[in-house]
Amino acid sequence: MISIKNPKQIEKMRKAGALLYEVLEKLKAAVKPGITTVALDSYAEELIRRNHATPSFLGYQGFPASICASIDETVVHGIPSDKVVLKEGQILSVDCGLILDGWQSDSAFTVGVGEICDEKQRLIEVTERCFFEGVRHAVKGGRVGDIGHAVQSLAESHGYGVIRDLTGHGIGRNMHEDPNVPNFGEKGRGVRLRSGMTIAVEPMISMGDWRIEILDDGWSCVTQDKSPSSHYEHTILIQEGLPELLSYPDFSWEEYFKKTGESQ
Ligand code: MG
Ligand code: MG
Repeated sequence: MISIKNPKQIEKMRKAGALLYEVLEKLKAAVKPGITTVALDSYAEELIRRNHATPSFLGYQGFPASICASIDETVVHGIPSDKVVLKEGQILSVDCGLILDGWQSDSAFTVGVGEICDEKQRLIEVTERCFFEGVRHAVKGGRVGDIGHAVQSLAESHGYGVIRDLTGHGIGRNMHEDPNVPNFGEKGRGVRLRSGMTIAVEPMISMGDWRIEILDDGWSCVTQDKSPSSHYEHTILIQEGLPELLSYPDFSWEEYFKKTGESQ
């Protein structure tokens, strides 16, 4: 069932999103060679709890941490570990979610650890562009397929693979609500987008093939061909006009279009 949020509920999701943004900005700044992924996880949990929120990933279907920390060919769901020390040249995806006052937010970024090669830099940038391409098509009256189509078209035009097995999702009181929001699809197909829907859009893009497998830890999701992959996610609100990025309060469409040189 798809839930439509009222203005009061949206305001709560806005607060959850703003807090998550703050947490992820701090985590991003902490990523450097030599740090363990468990140190990042502890930092995230501390920041979340200090602000009277709850880490939503911790214990979710048995997941043992507050963030997913996924390096290079690990697409998503990497488990933080004190044995995993970040190394120069890797790319790290951090995915994190929290619950504030009963409402969820979910967001992810990918960054380089120290200096990274141009190919990985381009993968990160294109993945972010895929997100914004998808999200600008997430408009009232449109369809979920419009988002996936936009993400897939851009990713594949760069020769990248779009992960099929995992998708974005509705979000609200629960982290995963209807509808699924795939990163591939056809324009004009799928669930109709309505004002007041809140969804997490999250392209997962591989430098090579899109096929994935789950490692023996039961969580880490890696590309079968071991090609590096990138993940970018925000929780957004469907409304009149372009969507609001609830987990990216600093974002403005006006600046975005100025920067990209495109028009709405
Ligand atoms: Mg996420
Ligand atoms: Mg998500």
